[in-house]
Amino acid sequence: MNEVNVLTADNRQLTTDCLIEVENLSHSYQERRALNNVSFEASCGEIFGFLGPNGSGKTTLFRILSTLIPITSGTVRILGYDLTAEVKAIRNLLGVVFQHPGLDVKLTVTENLRHHGHLYGLSGKTLHRRMAELLEYVGVSDRASDRVEVLSGGLQRRVEVAKAMLHSPRVLLLDEPTSGLDVTARRQLNDYLCVLADTENILVLLTTHLLDDAEACNRIGILDNGTLVALGAPNELKAQVGGDVVLIKGEANETLATAIAERFGVSPVLRDGQLRVECERGHEFVRDVVAAFPSEIQTVRFGRPTLEDVFIKLTGNPFVQ
Ligand code: ADP
Repeated sequence: MNEVNVLTADNRQLTTDCLIEVENLSHSYQERRALNNVSFEASCGEIFGFLGPNGSGKTTLFRILSTLIPITSGTVRILGYDLTAEVKAIRNLLGVVFQHPGLDVKLTVTENLRHHGHLYGLSGKTLHRRMAELLEYVGVSDRASDRVEVLSGGLQRRVEVAKAMLHSPRVLLLDEPTSGLDVTARRQLNDYLCVLADTENILVLLTTHLLDDAEACNRIGILDNGTLVALGAPNELKAQVGGDVVLIKGEANETLATAIAERFGVSPVLRDGQLRVECERGHEFVRDVVAAFPSEIQTVRFGRPTLEDVFIKLTGNPFVQ
């Protein structure tokens, strides 16, 4: 992680490798608890994703961090500024991309960016240079004079990212940025976000309910019912699951589970009509279990643990996207 030296607007000299510090953040809508004591830190140069199924609290977290809803419990500091007391200073440090499109589709890409730049007090050569730089970073330079309405969804989303970055924020917040995009456009957007995190040395903080998107992040936080159940690099989290995951489907799953447990000393878990077994050397287990129960087993699948397996292991629930 990169250390960053920052002179804040009120002349505080900060040397920190931590852009965001969130401590015991909770939020309730009336009696419904949407966030429950969430704590994490994130730094510049990294892509940090919040992964969770619908209703897990991602949007609530995004809305608090983007200053759309006030904090009622806990603290958030961004570059040392307190989100409750210093909202105005924090807004200048944030670039925000909402789920709902924020571009004027009848205007060209350049016109959209220029208008937005003016709102931030940018103009003339400085604005022109910044626009050109960002369109290059997100791979849209060759479409600068096209009206937004003729661009694909993926390109439009990348223009939104360029727009949010015009005033050189230190944190880019994105709420489900890949929603509605096809696989290729999603992958491209994730790649361009990596370029931005690196070249601008910013923290990219996004929410997603898609496992692929989470895989593309440097670190992720997994949310379940408002609680942060895991925090770390995708590979680290998957390594916690165990060696391999074997999924077995039988004629009579419960009887088969007992027989497999007795024979191999493993703990099959019945979920979604199949038995899930975590074990080392899964390829050998597959061979042995099929040999032991050839007529009881209908299908066997074997693979490395995924983030879905991490979620299942930690919450006991399937990951419903
Ligand atoms: P996600 O973005 O992961 O789908 P949300 O943050 O939207 O999760 O929702 C978290 C929980 O808070 C859910 O149970 C949801 O129903 C509830 N919730 C979200 N917004 C409101 C609201 N405005 N009023 C009441 N409950 C809400």
